[in-house]
Amino acid sequence: MRLLIVEDDPDLNRQLVAALSDAGYAVDTAFDGEEGHFLGDTEPYDAVILDLGLPQRDGISVLENWRRDNRKMPVLILTARDRWSDKVAGIDAGADDYVAKPFHMEEILARVRALLRRSSGHAKNEMEVGPLRLDTKTSRVTVSGAPVKLTSHEYRLLAYLMHHRGRVVSRTELVEHLYDQDFDRDSNTIEVFVGRLRKKIPADLIETVRGLGYCLGNSPDEA
Ligand code: CA
Repeated sequence: MRLLIVEDDPDLNRQLVAALSDAGYAVDTAFDGEEGHFLGDTEPYDAVILDLGLPQRDGISVLENWRRDNRKMPVLILTARDRWSDKVAGIDAGADDYVAKPFHMEEILARVRALLRRSSGHAKNEMEVGPLRLDTKTSRVTVSGAPVKLTSHEYRLLAYLMHHRGRVVSRTELVEHLYDQDFDRDSNTIEVFVGRLRKKIPADLIETVRGLGYCLGNSPDEA
C-alpha cells in the first residue's frame, strides 16, 4: 500500500513518514500544497494524509481539486484541535476522515488502516485466504496458525494482494502501489518477490495469470 503525506511542518512530516514506513507502507511526501496536489493528481495512492494549513495552496483547495478531477483515493485530513469549521469544510470538500492536532501516532495508524480496509471492501484488520492469515494491525502473517517471517517488501506485496484478493493484479499496478516514487522501479523485481513469497506460504495461493498478473485466492467469498 502506498501513501502520500502532505504536511509542511518538517518534524511532523518526518514523524509521519517514519511511523507509516515502519508500519509497512510505501510513503511519498510533500511539504506544500502545490507539490502535494501534483503528486495526488498524478500518482496512484491508496490513501493520503493531508494537512489543511499548507503554504502555496491550502489543503481544502487541493482536496476539492482532486475530487473535481475524480481522484477517489481515501483522504485523511489533519486539522487544528479547536477549528470545528475546518473539519466540516474538509469533509464537505471530500475528506473521508480527520484527526485533530496534536494527535497520537497510533490514532493515525488506526485511521489509515480503517480507510484502506474500507476502500478495498473489508470489514476487519484480519484477512484470510485458505490457511493464510494476515493481520494489518500487527503485520503478523500465519499459515495454519504458524507464524511466517517476511521481509518488509514481501509483506507489502502480500498485504496488497490480500486487500485485493480474488482480483487479478497486474505487475504495473503492484510496482505503482508497493514502491515510493524514489525507488528504482523495475517490474522484474515483482517476479522475484512473488517467487520468494511462494516459498514461504502455500505456493498455489498466488496464481500467475499469464499476460495479466497475479491473483491471490480465486474468490472474494473464500475467506
Ligand atoms: Ca500546516
